[in-house]
Amino acid sequence: MLIVQKYGGTSVGNLERIKNVAKRVAKAKEEGNDIVVVVSAMSGETNKLIEYANYFSKTPSKRDMDLLLSSGERVSAALLSIALNEMGYPTIAMTGRQAGIVTDSSHTTARIEKINTKPMEDELKSKKIVVVAGFQGINKDGSVTTLGRGGSDLSAVAIAGALKADKCEIYSDVDGVYTTDPRIEPKAKKLDKISYEEMLELASLGAKVLQNRSVELAKKLGVIIEAKSSFNENSGTIITKEEDIMEKPVVSGIALDKNQARVSLRGVEDRPGIAAEIFKALAKENINVDMIVQTIGHDGKTNLDFTVPQNELERAKTVMKEFKNEYELVEYEPNVSKVSIVGVGMKSHSGVASKAFETLAKENINIEMISTSEIKISMIIDEDKSEIAVRALHSAYDLDK
Ligand code: ADP
Ligand code: ASP
Ligand code: MG
Repeated sequence: MLIVQKYGGTSVGNLERIKNVAKRVAKAKEEGNDIVVVVSAMSGETNKLIEYANYFSKTPSKRDMDLLLSSGERVSAALLSIALNEMGYPTIAMTGRQAGIVTDSSHTTARIEKINTKPMEDELKSKKIVVVAGFQGINKDGSVTTLGRGGSDLSAVAIAGALKADKCEIYSDVDGVYTTDPRIEPKAKKLDKISYEEMLELASLGAKVLQNRSVELAKKLGVIIEAKSSFNENSGTIITKEEDIMEKPVVSGIALDKNQARVSLRGVEDRPGIAAEIFKALAKENINVDMIVQTIGHDGKTNLDFTVPQNELERAKTVMKEFKNEYELVEYEPNVSKVSIVGVGMKSHSGVASKAFETLAKENINIEMISTSEIKISMIIDEDKSEIAVRALHSAYDLDK
């Protein structure tokens, strides 16, 4: 079998842990498999490098940031390769470029365009363990690019797809995908299987156990992922096609995203084009607007609420100043959270939303904004109450049973 294994930051967090990873890789090799290992930077390393850059500049060039941040993964790849060699296993450590990963030029959030698989295939043929630095590639000009935070998951899925691997195992400090973050609700249950669609929603809505773009790509390429822990031998969670899952619970999981801030405009001029102007101005500043609610206008005025990531709020405030003649009042709420309920079963069951609202009402938690799709309900609430909300919802939908 050809197995792609990806080890995240915690799994390679110190030298002892890299040794542990080396032993796990060696075991899979001894079982007769061909192995490509993708590694993240040691935990905390990427954040440390960002801090270093911010010491000099709040707006460093993205090209420089990519060169800087890609170094974290190279350190882990080289160290793991050295450790495996010392144990007697022939290896080849590769950067993203050496592994043939070609991306577009959107520095810090690059998309993989293709993978020239020949270098990895040649090394596998000569029975070497291929160790690839995750999270990076090069663009057509040969500049180093990175794939966005958590992007080593994406490297692993892309490589598994390109090499037509039999398995893509993603190792972290949890042994799978749980009904909610087990750090918030210890009663959370591990899911044996989850569909790409649900996992994509959970990951996009805050469950960082898998990077959302990696799930999207896995779905597109038909790569089956197994999320596992590098700290034990437990079986993990399989992320696969909806058709392959027999039991479909109405609600599969609850996600929490604490990185939200709310902007509320009161008494906005209710004329065609106003929303377009405001959101165009925000987009121009690269501010990622998430949830948007506009109420029905009265007397030529309307209210407009939206959320942005907390660290983009200051920039959003600056943009709002440009529009100060277009509204009567603006309010900023820097600490809100988005709690989301996800499940494919919602498509065919009613009453899921009303149960969520009742549950939060019972806890005296005010819902500030709501948005829904076919398989999710998201609510903006006060950050201080967000973990209580997650636990209450988790129990209301019997996810702890
Ligand atoms: P890595 O650094 O290995 O990529 P991450 O820290 O990105 O790992 O992801 C693992 C973490 O995801 C866990 O420690 C856990 O707290 C968090 N997490 C959030 N939601 C979930 C969930 N639904 N199931 C499992 N883990 C979750
Ligand atoms: N090191 C990168 C990050 O922290 C990529 C990854 O870990 O997947 O975002
Ligand atoms: Mg991760």
